[in-house]
Formats: sequence, structure tokens, C-alpha cells
Amino acid sequence: MRIIETSLQKFRNKLTKRSRTDYIVLHHADWPKCSVYDIHRSHLARGWAGIGYAYFVSKDGQIYRGRPHDAVGAHCEGYNSVSLGICAEGDYEDEWQMPSEQKNAIIALLVELKKVYPQAQIVGHRDLIATSCPGKNYPFNEILQAVKTKQQIEEGTKVAERWKVNIIQKGKDLELLNQDHDPDDVAAKWFAVELAIRLKEEISEVKETLNKIREALS
Ligand SMILES: [Zn+2]
Repeated sequence: MRIIETSLQKFRNKLTKRSRTDYIVLHHADWPKCSVYDIHRSHLARGWAGIGYAYFVSKDGQIYRGRPHDAVGAHCEGYNSVSLGICAEGDYEDEWQMPSEQKNAIIALLVELKKVYPQAQIVGHRDLIATSCPGKNYPFNEILQAVKTKQQIEEGTKVAERWKVNIIQKGKDLELLNQDHDPDDVAAKWFAVELAIRLKEEISEVKETLNKIREALS
């Protein structure tokens, strides 16, 4: 997992270290298209030291560093000294679907953070205070479930079901896949559609050939 270092390490005020991490709080930017720098600027404009989140995940699945992950944040009133925040680009109150690149990046980041803060509970902003953040269409349950599955697979307490592993292996044998995949990875919609298109194209080629053979034989 790659974390993009930003030039945000210069904050207006000196940041204090957190002594406890009880929560990892998930947010959306409430902003359909924005960058980590936009968030930094807007939080500076609010008079804060700088971006209040520890990480910012863009829709294309890049993870950017915000505040140092062990600093007191500015993202969830009343909980900043016991939590760190992860912000997703987008407005998931209005946008109906999070891109799978972004979803998978958040999942991977959470798996890594849970190794650093095993006792921390993953929550949505709205689970702690009255807000709609991270939006009604933020795939919170799906992300949480995927994190648990990945942790279990890494710990060896859960192996992906045999049939799923077999499908991945068959895909590799048939050169549909060129690398190992976690069978429970979330697939992008375009990927599934592209596969279906390719199959349809191949089937019609086979049909044409069959027709030609039939014609030649008749
Ligand atoms: Zn929030």
C-alpha cells in the first residue's frame, strides 16, 4: 500500500500527539470533486492548524497523508484526542456509488491501521455525533465486512472458500487473470462488463465459423 506524502507537514500550529486511539472515524468530503490540498486550505480557512484528517482517499484510489496519524485531529468534535479521521473524496449523501478503486484503497488502509491500533473501533462520523457524514450511500457495512475478511485471511483464521480460490486459479490458467487476487476483492463494474463483452464477441465468432462450416457442408 502506497501513501502519497504531501507537503502539508507544515501546519500552522504545533500539533499535539494523541495518547489514545479509540476510534478510526470515516468521513466523506461532502464535496464531489476535491483534493487533499483543497481540504487543507478549507480547514486552514476555518482557523485550524491545517487538514484535520490523517488520510485523504481520492476517487481513483490514491491515499494521501494529511496530519501525522498519531496527532490530535480536527474532524470529530469531542473525539479528536481519541481518534483519527479518514476522509473520502466525494459526496456520498448525493452520489449513489463509491468507485471500487476508492473502496478498495479505504479497505487496505483500514487493514494497515488496525495493525497499528488494534483496539480502535471503525465508525462513521455519524455514529459519534449528529451529522449525516459520511453520507447515506457511503458503503460502510461493505467496507467493514471486507476489512474483517481480509484480517481473517491474513491471520490465517479464515481461508477464502475453496470454490472461490478454484475460480481464481481457473481464471489464471485460462489467462483471464495475470496475477493473484484475493477472491473477495470488490470488482469494478467495468471489469465485469468488459469480460461479458469479450465473451459475447468470442461466442459470435464461433457462431459465424459454425455457420460457414454448415454452408460448406450443405
Ligand atoms: Zn465527517
